[in-house]
Order: sequence, then structure tokens, then C-alpha cells
Amino acid sequence: SSATVYGEHGVPPMSEDAPLSATNPYGQTKVMMEQIIRDVAIADKNLRYAMLRYFNPVGAHPSGQIGEHPRGIPNNLMPYVQQVAIGLREKLSVFGDDYPTADGTGERDYIHVIDLADAHVLALEYLRKGGESNIFNLGNGKGFSVKEMIEAAKKATGKDIKVEMGARRAGDPAQLIASSEKARKILGWKTPAEVFDEQLRSLQQPGVATTP
Ligand code: UDP
Repeated sequence: SSATVYGEHGVPPMSEDAPLSATNPYGQTKVMMEQIIRDVAIADKNLRYAMLRYFNPVGAHPSGQIGEHPRGIPNNLMPYVQQVAIGLREKLSVFGDDYPTADGTGERDYIHVIDLADAHVLALEYLRKGGESNIFNLGNGKGFSVKEMIEAAKKATGKDIKVEMGARRAGDPAQLIASSEKARKILGWKTPAEVFDEQLRSLQQPGVATTP
């Protein structure tokens, strides 16, 4: 499933019990599919589900063999930014800078595809061990604005990324940020960044020798 099922009404960071409301046809398909899955599991007691609500997946497999290279004009921010960076497109249109967010552009919770893949494996293990039907948000818990994403992409690629301010895209909420506490608690899901931070913190504990 997808964060889009939270529509515009939830208060970020969204937990799984936030009300569902789609703001576009894509969101409607996700809300409907969730309902069908719930109904099937009620009708057949032998079936259990784990519904995973992805926030904004980005990134590629480190091998570079599986990545994001959509056909035609990309709909999503990251592939669009990357195509501008490599000179495939001239400029990025920022869809609105008058949202009630810190810098006026939309805020999203971007999560790496490999972290999402890990969560799928954990969800399957959870069900195999007899876990009850459940829904999990998958995000990093922090929001980044379109402007912040552009700045980060400039830094990472060393390229200038030309932008123009455009109108809001219909159906885009201002902010979509996850609370993934449930996935962390029940599935034991951790992103590599979190594992790294934990290791760093444990090294910085008093009494633990660290390299000066
Ligand atoms: N966005 C943008 N220009 C683009 C594509 C997206 O400004 O060419 C913005 C969009 O309004 C949203 C954010 O970038 O605030 C992420 O959009 P995306 O389509 O990647 O994911 P969504 O959250 O809509 O599923």
C-alpha cells in the first residue's frame, strides 16, 4: 500500500490508525485494495496479511542494475531531478511553493528502496512465525521539502539543477510523514542509517575507547 491512503487529513507523523482518505485516483486504488484484503482475511480465517504503506521510495540497488529509470517523462521528484542532473531534461518544475510548510514546498518522507525490501522480508518472517494480520507504515520519520531534495541532489551530483516554480499539482498534500514505530517495534525494522547511528552512539558511551 502507500502513504497516499492518508490523504490530507492526518496529522504528521502519521500512525497506522490515522483516518484514510484518498485525494486522487491512485490513492483510491490503494484504499480499495486494502479493503479487499481485509475482507478476504475476514472471509477466510486461514489467510493473514501484512500491508505495507510505503512513504516515498527512492534510490537504487547498489549494483546499479536495478534503479529508477521510468519510460517517458517521470512523474516522481527523484527520477526527474536525476534526469535534469544528467542533462536529459532542461529543468525541474517545483509543484507549488505556497504550502503551509517551512519553505513553502511539499514535504515528504523519503525512504530507500533497499530499506523497503528489508521490511518485506521481515514482514514475511513475522507472518510465518504466526503474527496476526497487521498494517505497517514504512518511512524514515523525517520530512524533507522539495527544495531540500534539490539542494541535496546538487551536492551529491555536483551538478547545477535548474528549477522553475510551478503551480501546485492537483491532489498533492502539503506533508506526508510517517511514524514507523510499529514496524520498528513489531518487525524489528531498522534502516542502515539507524544501525550506523546506534553503533556510533555506543562507541561514544563514556568508558568506551574511541579513536581521537
Ligand atoms: N514534485 C515536484 N516536481 C516534480 C515532481 C514532484 O515539485 O516534477 C513534488 C510533489 O509536489 C511532492 C514531492 O515533489 O511534494 C514528491 O512528489 P512525488 O511525485 O515524487 O511523490 P508523491 O508524494 O506525489 O507520491
